[in-house]
Amino acid sequence: MKKYTIVGGGIIGASVAYHLQKYGADITVYDRDDAGKASRASAGIIAPWISQRRNKKWYRLAKTGAAYYPSFIEALERDTQLDTGYQQKGVLSLFRDNNVLQKGYKRISSKMEDAPEMQHVEIIERDKIRTYHPTFVEHFPAVYTHGGAQVNGAKLNSAIKESIIKNGGTWKNEDFQDDRVEGEIIYTTGAWGIEQGFKPTVSHQRAEVYHFEVESDFTTLHNPVVMALGPIYIVEMSPNQFAIGTTHEDTTSFSTMPSHENYKYLKSLAEEYFSGFKIRDIGMNVGLRPHTRDFLPFIGRVAENKFVINGMGSTGLTAGPIVGAEVARLLNNVETELDLSDYSYIN
Ligand SMILES: Cc1cc2nc3c(=O)[nH]c(=O)nc-3n(C[C@H](O)[C@H](O)[C@H](O)COP(=O)(O)OP(=O)(O)OC[C@H]3O[C@@H](n4cnc5c(N)ncnc54)[C@H](O)[C@@H]3O)c2cc1C
Repeated sequence: MKKYTIVGGGIIGASVAYHLQKYGADITVYDRDDAGKASRASAGIIAPWISQRRNKKWYRLAKTGAAYYPSFIEALERDTQLDTGYQQKGVLSLFRDNNVLQKGYKRISSKMEDAPEMQHVEIIERDKIRTYHPTFVEHFPAVYTHGGAQVNGAKLNSAIKESIIKNGGTWKNEDFQDDRVEGEIIYTTGAWGIEQGFKPTVSHQRAEVYHFEVESDFTTLHNPVVMALGPIYIVEMSPNQFAIGTTHEDTTSFSTMPSHENYKYLKSLAEEYFSGFKIRDIGMNVGLRPHTRDFLPFIGRVAENKFVINGMGSTGLTAGPIVGAEVARLLNNVETELDLSDYSYIN
């Protein structure tokens, strides 16, 4: 029986452990569960097709990841009977005016050709926005991508952990330092990858998200994800509760203290997007988003019996399950769907 030690139990470590177990491997996961763990702070948006990013290697990975989600979630929820919060409730991409709306529609709908999982793409005039999102401001027209989804990172992580334990794996909420263990070690340590010092170097961005409740005399449910103007998104967390984010701050600090300035900035945006409704604070969340210099994930062996998966950036939750499935195939000499050598580089 092949033996693997996985260091880091975020979406990447959990997912690779889960998929390796399907090949009969003996799995031990170590997870320190640091404050700032990205998988817990994540907004959980799964909609890579609406991004304006042009990097083809990134897109292939994220797109394949989004397509894999429904079958992955179905198997996981069946196995554990736990809810992951996964819902294909669509994504509204807002545009400032009709001119940019038409360009956005063309760009997004052109992706449908090789991504049928997008389901359907349509323009929503601003006076129809409230049909989809009842408390949202009616200032902007949008493109609605029906196949866009949202998952709860913390619940997903817990469900995968539960499945690993249920199927005979070991999960230790401990620091892993002594690498003299039997078998292969897979490092999935996110922002803390700097501690191992492998190349490529992993840096991180601090991302703050404001959670709030919208006070209304009716309950709103299953609101789509909103990709608002600029790099801002709004996601529903539970009935009438939302999160707006995110800030992007390059830093070497591991502090997860929210800043008052970012609180004020995000709250003012929430008030604009839900104008006419009273906003009540729930709190701020801070996550540390790991990335490499090229903002492309690294997936590869760095020394004998030492494998690294890191630098998942802002779409690690989208790509996490497929990365786990593909790495498990690679390590079992089974043909992979993606060319993983695209992500095995040193910079
Ligand atoms: C605010 C925010 C919003 C985001 N929104 C989205 C989104 O909408 N869609 C999307 O696809 N992605 C999103 N992301 C990105 C995504 O969350 C990350 O890319 C992904 O979660 C990274 O997962 P990971 O497993 O590599 O790292 P993490 O989730 O950070 O996990 C790393 C784990 O390793 C542990 N660890 C480190 N060192 C050790 C050690 N020596 N021993 C034991 N344990 C150790 C840490 O404690 C931690 O628990 C977002 C990220 C943030 C921060």
